[in-house]
Amino acid sequence: MKKPPTFQIFTVLLSLLLISAAGIGRERSIPTVPRLLQAVGNSNNLQVRKGTPFKIAIFADLHFGEDPWTDWAPRQDVNSLKVMSSVLDAETPGLVVYLGDVITANNLATHNASLYWDKAISPARDRNIPWATVFGNHDDAKFEWPKAWLSPSGVPPTRCPGTTSGCPSRGTTRVELVQGEIKASVKGLSRTMMGPNQLLPSVSNYVLPLKSSDPSKPAVALLYFLDSGGGSYPSVISNAQVEWFKTVSNARNPDLRIPELIFWHIPSKAYEKVAPPTDDEISKPCVGSITFDGKVATQDAENGMMAVLENRSSVKAVFVGHNHGLDWCCPGEKNLWLCFARHTGYGGYGFWDRGARIVEITETPLGIKSWIRMEDGFVHSEVNLSRA
Ligand SMILES: [Zn+2]
Repeated sequence: MKKPPTFQIFTVLLSLLLISAAGIGRERSIPTVPRLLQAVGNSNNLQVRKGTPFKIAIFADLHFGEDPWTDWAPRQDVNSLKVMSSVLDAETPGLVVYLGDVITANNLATHNASLYWDKAISPARDRNIPWATVFGNHDDAKFEWPKAWLSPSGVPPTRCPGTTSGCPSRGTTRVELVQGEIKASVKGLSRTMMGPNQLLPSVSNYVLPLKSSDPSKPAVALLYFLDSGGGSYPSVISNAQVEWFKTVSNARNPDLRIPELIFWHIPSKAYEKVAPPTDDEISKPCVGSITFDGKVATQDAENGMMAVLENRSSVKAVFVGHNHGLDWCCPGEKNLWLCFARHTGYGGYGFWDRGARIVEITETPLGIKSWIRMEDGFVHSEVNLSRA
């Protein structure tokens, strides 16, 4: 039923009131971005130290909480903690990006999956390293009943094995997960923000500026995080997200002077176009590896987002996870770099060695490099992400 205009105005005013009560508008230094387009959270203090490159460690597809009622599965999470610890101790990054599929919610018979989310974050938090998260397609997925738990008639039990508080009726939502993360963040180390309400159901949409070592200078880089969906809704970048990105990026970087990096979980179809078909066929300018079949599992729709990024010369690279067996970087249209992360978690499918993609941003001279660091310390696939 179509609502009368007075009702719509009332709804907008009420939303504005609720949003300002929730703290939107803390990023006061950027007054040109409309208030409704801003996100809630802590965007402070990512700053380059003079003379020191700023490093970002990307942890992708950790898949904490797979089959937690078994003996073998919780050991996977312990092993994932070891991968993250070894990477963090070797690289000492200034930021960790958790690039989606942090948890496997469809295996979690719990009312509060935040406990597993929190465990996955702990290696960064324990080392006082700020982190930022985006959602993947498993993080808010609905619990799927293991067939073995069903009675012969197909009826699920009233109490799930291994739990004390009954069985969940639904997954922990994206909003609940991000609220839990921000609330549990010690010393404001979580830089995750909850995107503006008009982008719902997608939640992790926000931008973090990397400040210069000289406060009088503009940011060294802008890091954009987008929710590529999946789980409780289709894997899409919506029209609303494209418009949000255009508005926010034009306000923050109108002359395209600041390099910009994009982080989301599910590859767009542009990745399919540049994908090397097999490991043997990876050659320069592509770098990286294929340890499964080379097929890219893409988003359902991206509504012109890639064209916007390609036409914005300041955007240097897009980073995705999702395809656990791929860790390559290739230049796409207009030499925009399209990169996979590296499967970090022992959770999720895959028999290959685990590791993480590192991104290094240098202020003077300005440069962006990336490589993969494996759990055992081996470093490979270094690439310069400048855009020719
Ligand atoms: Zn995954």
